[in-house]
Amino acid sequence: MTKSKYYLKAADVYTETSVEKNHYVLITDGIITEITDKPQLNIEVRDLGNLSLIPGMIDMHIHGREGCDIMDAKMSSIETISTSLAKYGVIGFLGTTVTANWQQTLKAFEVVGEASQLKMPGAQVLGAYNEGLFFTETHKGAHNENFFLKLTKERVDAIYKATQGQLKVMALAPEFQDSLEIIEYLNSLNVKVMLGHTNANFEQASEALNAGAAGGVHIFNGMSGIHHRDPGCAGAVLMDESALAEVIADGIHLHPTIMQLIYRLKGQDKMALISDCINAGGFSDGVYKLGEMDVVVKDGVARTPKGSLAGSTLTLNKSVNNIVNMTGVPLLSAVHMASLTPAKHLGIDNELGSICLGKRASFAVIDDALDVKATVIDGEFVFANEEFSKYLSS
Ligand SMILES: [Zn+2]
Repeated sequence: MTKSKYYLKAADVYTETSVEKNHYVLITDGIITEITDKPQLNIEVRDLGNLSLIPGMIDMHIHGREGCDIMDAKMSSIETISTSLAKYGVIGFLGTTVTANWQQTLKAFEVVGEASQLKMPGAQVLGAYNEGLFFTETHKGAHNENFFLKLTKERVDAIYKATQGQLKVMALAPEFQDSLEIIEYLNSLNVKVMLGHTNANFEQASEALNAGAAGGVHIFNGMSGIHHRDPGCAGAVLMDESALAEVIADGIHLHPTIMQLIYRLKGQDKMALISDCINAGGFSDGVYKLGEMDVVVKDGVARTPKGSLAGSTLTLNKSVNNIVNMTGVPLLSAVHMASLTPAKHLGIDNELGSICLGKRASFAVIDDALDVKATVIDGEFVFANEEFSKYLSS
């Protein structure tokens, strides 16, 4: 963290509840110490002109970017993902696995666990997300069912240990025996349980949520949808007030009207934007791998050879823009869904997730089209376009 004191001045500063015009945010040794329209004299001002300052975004569910995948189990891959995410205003992410061979999965978790405790060049690793292994074939999506396993306490322990305690989220299909006990056990380890790639009906999903599951993985995708005689897993997540819905807002995974429906039922506090981005993110169309599975990317949309959607090539700034343009949600709310909502879900909102006194100075600098011009983490510029490159930390 730089020992320093300076103001960032922006045309619009997005706080938790308002958009402040022509405000100055004082950053002292990486912490937000003042938000004002009357700056103190003799302190450096870095003027962002007509740009906006929003809280740095948090991508809770991302598999890879720019040819690199969490399943590579390589620190260099995580660094590439970290640098790539910073270009899009993301300041933190969970290294997310996909179904693969058990030993390979543990290796990937070891590297994510290590990376969580190191300073990354761009977005920081906030922990690990297990999206793999413990699913149902019916809604497998791009997961290879040959590697599916029964979720046991021993396997939870092995993953938790591999991540050095940095496992934050476990996705699972709750219709199997002992699931409710496993959910309680995961909660006792402070791991959030998300229901996904599941054929659970409404009752089974509701029972899992009552037992402590925290929400649904990329809602509607990889789970039973809403039927008027069985509201399904999607219905259970939508109707449970405390459940969080992960949303892939690319306009492909969810129809805009369904995104509106989710927003009306969940509101900005229980609707989290995720990218679910795979290693093709940031690259052109072609054939890529998600774990061991071939994925064909055409017009930016990733599918398995059988046609199932296989993650995305999305970025969170694009998601925020899409939510605003496709559903009419106010920008302040859309920003909230990519920053404070994930921070709260991960229990780190005391220090990240919003532009608020006392929190870490981690921001994205955006224009009206939601293009990211600079990204600041703990007061340090980790990404900047040419105009702001003079502020980049060396
Ligand atoms: Zn998935």
